[in-house]
Amino acid sequence: MNLEKSILVIGEHRNGILNPVTLELIQKSRELSKNSGHKVYTLLIGSNIKEIAEETSHYDVDKMFFVQDEKLEFYNTDAYTFVVSEICKEVGPDVVFIGATPQGRDLAPRLAARCKTGLTADCTELEFDEKGFLLMTRPAFGGNLMATITCEKHRPQMSTVRPGVFAKGKRASKTFVIPEEIKIDLTKTIIRGRIIKQEKQKKESANISEAKVLIAGGRGMGGKAGFNLLTRLAELLDGTVAASRPVIDQGWIDKSHQVGQTGKTVRPRLYIACGISGALQHIAGMQESDFIIAINKNEDAPIMKIADLAIVGDVHKILPEMISRLESKK
Ligand code: FAD
Repeated sequence: MNLEKSILVIGEHRNGILNPVTLELIQKSRELSKNSGHKVYTLLIGSNIKEIAEETSHYDVDKMFFVQDEKLEFYNTDAYTFVVSEICKEVGPDVVFIGATPQGRDLAPRLAARCKTGLTADCTELEFDEKGFLLMTRPAFGGNLMATITCEKHRPQMSTVRPGVFAKGKRASKTFVIPEEIKIDLTKTIIRGRIIKQEKQKKESANISEAKVLIAGGRGMGGKAGFNLLTRLAELLDGTVAASRPVIDQGWIDKSHQVGQTGKTVRPRLYIACGISGALQHIAGMQESDFIIAINKNEDAPIMKIADLAIVGDVHKILPEMISRLESKK
């Protein structure tokens, strides 16, 4: 294959739907390529995935590869590592981006070892320096400092990237490329395990990264009971409940709701922060929200400085008032 200097995005999908992190990585790659001149390539792996490859080609990519085989229906470490490493041999990408999802976190270290290169996991910022080295930034030492890492001597430069950190690109009505199927002979590798059935998780897990409206609560909500107010407000605004870390530590709500450096990064259209002080580690996860409302009894709390609308007062008075006004409109 005669290919140019490229960034290869390893896409992810489930039940015919692309994982949003794939679209975030395509868009970030396109943004980086404007100065660096890289081509943006995407790879999808699975079984019967021509349609989803076609759908992906509505986003701004220079090449769209897909590998399909019955044995690739479910994620499998051995099979997927083999496929991506074979593609890397063919394509010779300068950079590989993988979503820091459970699948990506499993695949990336194996792949890096197979390609004899380095890996920076869980990146939150990416840019090229003037020499063309990728500067990969990630929280280090439990989020107390940010480390910027380069991989100068080995290729590809490889990162996993936190979902929700970068914006998704817009779907165009036209397709940018015709997807190219690549055949990989899976009999040439040993696949040690096989998933025969996948069941939906019984435990409900909040998808705060995708929510358009988030009603977030902090220690100022006073306890588990205070969160009933947030749940009701979320119902009325078609939103999802989110939380700061101490709330999770206290067991008021489960970890899937946590926003921040050690939780999830969110960018909803509306973020209502109730009884949250606005510590750096919290703000890191929500500052890209389109519109922020903060309710806090302390007008000097840091969250009030970044809020578009800062309401000084007691959440236990303001939230019931908001709820009753919204209920009266329904
Ligand atoms: P507090 O800081 O205690 O703030 C409570 C706020 O509620 C105060 O501003 C108070 O004025 C207000 N309040 C109290 N009562 C009321 C009332 N009745 N009405 C209105 N307002 C009221 N935090 C995260 O959120 N996410 C993370 O991912 C995260 N990662 C971290 C990683 C590391 C390595 C470290 C060291 C810390 C991390 N933290 C994280 C914790 C962070 O530093 C803060 O401690 C935390 O965000 C504070 O949570 P909070 O705002 O709910 O509580």
